[in-house]
Amino acid sequence: MPRSCVAYLCFSAMFSGVVVPGNGFTLSSLPLRGTGPIVQRSSTVQPHGIHRLPLQTASARKEHVSVKMGLASNALTSLASVGALSMPVNPVVVLAGACILAMSVAAFLLNKPSRAYQAGENTVGKEYDAWTEEGILEYYWGEHIHLGFYNKSDIQNIKNPIKSSAVFKETKYKFIDEMYKWSGAEAGGNKPLKVLDVGCGIGGTSRYLAKKLGGDTKVTGITLSPNQVQRATELAKEKGLDNVEFKVMDALKMEFPDNTFDLVWGCESGEHMPDKYKYVEEMTRVLKPGGTLVIATWCQRETPPEFTESEKDKLKFLYEEWAHPYFISIEEYERHCKKTGKLEAISGANWVKETIHAWRHSIWVGIWDPWIVIWKGFTSKVGPWIWWKVIREIVTLERMHRAFDSGLMTYGMIRAKKQQA
Ligand code: SAH
Repeated sequence: MPRSCVAYLCFSAMFSGVVVPGNGFTLSSLPLRGTGPIVQRSSTVQPHGIHRLPLQTASARKEHVSVKMGLASNALTSLASVGALSMPVNPVVVLAGACILAMSVAAFLLNKPSRAYQAGENTVGKEYDAWTEEGILEYYWGEHIHLGFYNKSDIQNIKNPIKSSAVFKETKYKFIDEMYKWSGAEAGGNKPLKVLDVGCGIGGTSRYLAKKLGGDTKVTGITLSPNQVQRATELAKEKGLDNVEFKVMDALKMEFPDNTFDLVWGCESGEHMPDKYKYVEEMTRVLKPGGTLVIATWCQRETPPEFTESEKDKLKFLYEEWAHPYFISIEEYERHCKKTGKLEAISGANWVKETIHAWRHSIWVGIWDPWIVIWKGFTSKVGPWIWWKVIREIVTLERMHRAFDSGLMTYGMIRAKKQQA
């Protein structure tokens, strides 16, 4: 992320030194704004002390965008007129200045998270509805919205333009196989007959498990996104699978009776939960005695040591870009499992080494095959805006990679069995 690039400094200097005195604005007085769904929220403090700043309304935001654009053009005009007084205008210099300004604005905007979780607004469902409708995520990621499991040859193929895309999708199936093995769901010798996929996306895992486990197993997937349910059901029909179904349902208030499922599976949905204990508790409630709970989820490192200011900044961006209320550590998930008083054989693992390559790999697949994104800029409802959104995704993917690489984030795997009654 080009946070501290020279262009950004030029931009800051321009606003604080050239524009500010005349207009009474300071850079810090300008509100946050974003590119995603517009949200309004009050200032809150995260569990580990990260302050979340208030966002403004759509109209206020538009007003500020136009104020800022006005300021920017004022600045250019002032610079141009200063130049005109003392020397002939050199078009190359003007062009270079305009480029620097544009890059600075882009860097500034990209450094601000834009799609924050908002309690009571179904921001998560809306984000996934939009991704499903756009189709870009499905084009690159296939049926799965989770990281892949990488071995040596997969890593070597990331930069292979011919194989990269296929390998990217294969690693996701490998991940499911590894997660299933690791869960120990068949340790007692029986395969699970009733499976719940909590936060199922467009149902890639549900369908894969339905096929793998066979017709006598019934898989149910739940999500907050109606578009995902529709797409997941469509794909199940296309594949002729009748042992899988999808519902819009909140994982924190599930409609299933107690003790319903043999296997409860949560893959990369925990990161979106505003109440992580309730998430674990609800999954435990619907699990049959003797049944298996398995969770894969992005976690932040355990504290203490407390987060530094720089770590808090990084986390804040990751929380607020893809509708994550906050993350917790693997150890905290294990403590939550213990706290239910109903789980045993609880254990956790960090699969960061196995999965970290997925972040940059997803950027590479776009580099090798960018055409769908270019095309969508001309054909989608939002037009060229989609290009900006994709640039934001790339920045976030890279930031995720760095956070996992540095140990700030960990890839949490948690498994447990429900005690016999
Ligand atoms: N497990 C899926 C997709 C992970 S993306 C896969 O393997 O492809 C995260 C999913 O979690 C999305 O479908 C989102 O709608 C779902 N989710 C997030 N919060 C949820 C909640 N409170 N209840 C149900 N689903 C939720």
